[in-house]
Amino acid sequence: MDDRTFDYIVIGGGTAGCLLANRLSRDPSRRVLLLEAGKKDNYPWIHIPVGYLYCIGNPRTDWLYKTAPDPGLNGRSLRYPRGKTLGGSSSINGMIYMRGQARDYDAWAAETGDASWSWDQVLPYFKAHEDHYRMDGGADPETGGNSRFSDTHGHGGEWRIEMQRLRWDVLEAFADAAGEAGFPRTDDFNSGDNEGVGYFEVNQRSGWRWNASKAFLRPVRKRANLTILTEAHVERLVIDAKAAGRKVCKGVTVRHRGQKVEYASRRDVILSAGAVGSPQILQLSGIGPGALLRKSQLGAFTRSDPSQAHANVEYHVQPLSLDAFGEPLHGFPALTASVCNLNPTSRGSVRITSARMEDAPEIAPNYLATAEDRKVAVDSLRQVRVIASMPALQKYRPQEWKPGPQFQDYDELVKLAGDIANTIFHPVGTAKMGSDSDPMAVVDNRLKVRGIDGLRVVDASVMPTIVSGNTNSPTLMIAEKAASMILEDARKVVAS
Ligand SMILES: Cc1cc2nc3c(=O)[nH]c(=O)nc-3n(C[C@H](O)[C@H](O)[C@H](O)COP(=O)(O)OP(=O)(O)OC[C@H]3O[C@@H](n4cnc5c(N)ncnc54)[C@H](O)[C@@H]3O)c2cc1C
Repeated sequence: MDDRTFDYIVIGGGTAGCLLANRLSRDPSRRVLLLEAGKKDNYPWIHIPVGYLYCIGNPRTDWLYKTAPDPGLNGRSLRYPRGKTLGGSSSINGMIYMRGQARDYDAWAAETGDASWSWDQVLPYFKAHEDHYRMDGGADPETGGNSRFSDTHGHGGEWRIEMQRLRWDVLEAFADAAGEAGFPRTDDFNSGDNEGVGYFEVNQRSGWRWNASKAFLRPVRKRANLTILTEAHVERLVIDAKAAGRKVCKGVTVRHRGQKVEYASRRDVILSAGAVGSPQILQLSGIGPGALLRKSQLGAFTRSDPSQAHANVEYHVQPLSLDAFGEPLHGFPALTASVCNLNPTSRGSVRITSARMEDAPEIAPNYLATAEDRKVAVDSLRQVRVIASMPALQKYRPQEWKPGPQFQDYDELVKLAGDIANTIFHPVGTAKMGSDSDPMAVVDNRLKVRGIDGLRVVDASVMPTIVSGNTNSPTLMIAEKAASMILEDARKVVAS
């Protein structure tokens, strides 16, 4: 094998890519290449938890995307940060450790027709890399045996989870007010049912950010069979026609520090460029819709109204206020309750706008496009007002800044939701997994791109529907499961 040929080529050194590079290079006989467009993660603000405010909107660490003007947001366009460095978005994210709800994964299993994506069967892949602080004192500090924590959490893996260190009186008061409004407390958002109010657990070690690069890449970067290239921007996949009309992905074309280089793969090329980067590279390579080829926080999970069957909104409550991340803080003491619809029914798109990889794709989230989503937005605004009116918060004499207490009417609140809504950074499903009969499915249940051999997508893009929570740890679970499927498939080829 020459020095430009590898068994596996992983595109994107982000959340999924770092874990894959680690797992696929465990066997010293397999050569693995990891290609990352950004620089190394040796930038101080990455590692200081509050530093994400300086990493977002910063070309050193962020792709600086903006969404297309969105009709649901009354024509506004939003900043759309995506990590551009080793660790990817896990280097600039809010570090919240969240898996979602068991029913999310059971729905994936139903949608793909593959029970191995159900909650019970993906749980071991979450646990495989976890290092949960609750088990630091032994298998289970509370009972010493088989408890709800050791059943659902792992210890000794690479992915560190700690309780955040800061406590704020105003956040405690918000939690108490939520209790007075009828919402229960929870001490574990990650057991499969996350309904309740509590402090988020975070991916930190001793108070420093714990990103996917520190967890999975740094410990193995000296492996002789692992090559990591930074500032290596993948332009295209190299696709060949095979006999019997099938296509096969043979490698990639990369712009590495100004030089154009081609790398070949003997087994799989794995796209882990994220929910914007992966569909962009597929489309630039001629795979995608025909038309395109022509050109310290408190959290809560509640029901936005009592008729909802399960918790369908997530609160991120922070003791600060600003117009948008990257903008300065407001000059008054404040609390922001940002409420996220966990099961949106609006669907957006990511589409290339030219054949040049330097041109950002058009990101069109299509927010608040359905009546259901607009109702959840209005119900959520009203629910925050109820919590803010509870006795526990009255010592702060809270006043509503946005949308403003003068607006009470449903239609007014729909319009104002469009004026003030923002992203909380969890795009998924842009190269979704699905069954053979699903015309929108880009990959199958083993994450292979339909119709092309030797090519997989392994990152947040493949989620068939968004999980009810934050998306980083679910992406690691997907990568862990994918690594085991890729190695299993390689063993089958050797055996046959
Ligand atoms: C600001 C922000 C806050 C967030 N907060 C949280 C949170 O608190 N908790 C949580 O669970 N989730 C959070 N998320 C979401 C979570 O971080 C992502 O869902 C997760 O990191 C996605 O992982 P990924 O592997 O799909 O993509 P990424 O981690 O984004 O990795 C993609 C990688 O591919 C690289 N790449 C892209 N294109 C190319 C190319 N052409 N050539 C080479 N390399 C390329 C990118 O530079 C990047 O390193 C947040 C995200 C952001 C942006």
